[in-house]
Amino acid sequence: MDSCMSVQREVEKVLTKFSKLKDHSVDTIDDFISSIESLRKELAEGPADGPVQMTQSSVLNQALHRVQEATGRMGQEHKDLHSTVSKVGKTIDRNFVAEFSAVFTESAFEKEDCRELLNEIVCEHFLRQGKLDIAETLNEEAGLNLDPTQMEPFLEIHRILEALKRKNLQPALSWVAANRDRLLEMNSSLEFKLQQLQFLEMVSSNAHDPAFIIQQARQFARFAHKHTRELQVLMGSLLYMPQGLQNSPYAFLLDPIYWDEICDVFTRDACALMGMSVESPLSVSIRAGCKALPPLLNIRQVMQQRQVAGVWTNKDELPVEIDLGSEHRYHSIFACPILRQQSTEHNPPVRLICGHVISRDALHKLSSANKVKCPYCPVEQNPEEAKIVTF
Ligand SMILES: [Zn+2]
Repeated sequence: MDSCMSVQREVEKVLTKFSKLKDHSVDTIDDFISSIESLRKELAEGPADGPVQMTQSSVLNQALHRVQEATGRMGQEHKDLHSTVSKVGKTIDRNFVAEFSAVFTESAFEKEDCRELLNEIVCEHFLRQGKLDIAETLNEEAGLNLDPTQMEPFLEIHRILEALKRKNLQPALSWVAANRDRLLEMNSSLEFKLQQLQFLEMVSSNAHDPAFIIQQARQFARFAHKHTRELQVLMGSLLYMPQGLQNSPYAFLLDPIYWDEICDVFTRDACALMGMSVESPLSVSIRAGCKALPPLLNIRQVMQQRQVAGVWTNKDELPVEIDLGSEHRYHSIFACPILRQQSTEHNPPVRLICGHVISRDALHKLSSANKVKCPYCPVEQNPEEAKIVTF
């Protein structure tokens, strides 16, 4: 962040200098134009074929001299601007590292299937953003052969979200109706929230007859068991219909925050329904990379200074633990307290009968003759009885 700020400071310097120079030059040029105009007028007023008088010629010479001087000065000022501009480039070079090969595995995308996977992720990213044209071109040029039916759900979600942002609930309501059973299985509240918003729009618009609105309220009966409290509030708000909800204790129901919330709920539930992550994997990777790169580059530098560069040879494993923050924590991890290694699919955590958990490799190492003694409590047991723990 500090790096960005220092580059910005340099850019601002250039902009200030540039606008000053521009104002100054425009003023000078305008002055010259007007003085030359008046000289021309003066000359035109004299006799058409009469000789130019001494005073006139000296005035002309002086004007010419001044113009030459000023253009020279302006040229110099323009040249000075170059050094300020080049400072921006130098600040960028100083603050940002362009050489990432030290922390990058060149061979990561060498294999055909890895490259294809990367292209697919980029393509999916554009589809998520509704940029169909870019995604289609990439699909063609990278030879991804993505089925149009694979693209359609992304576009549909994008269309519905765009409509929600314009406070148009209809596309979302139709989508929910088409996927009702699966959403119910997921215990989703999306349909209730959409119906609630639609109902509130109707109540606050004052465009409908109260009898019609009460009739409409009956559709909420099917949500009664799950959303009792919200329905009580919603029905209570009907009492204030004649004077307008905005002047009632229920005014909070009209808070625009509910429209932001519905976009989030829709994205989350629609992605879950399609078995996708809420956020684009590409944006998540880039964000994580931006956080992880500075410490990795620092470590690399320290290693080179102390001449221990050979320590970090396996680039699949980082030399230090990098905390990406809670936003990038997706699932629990288990590190074996005996082997001090993170568990993997091949070496999962296992629970001993005493309740202590170690990794399976550690269990194998500790057991002998079908017996194992828990390293934490001295309970002796059969290693066969340990159960794999799944998070
Ligand atoms: Zn134990």
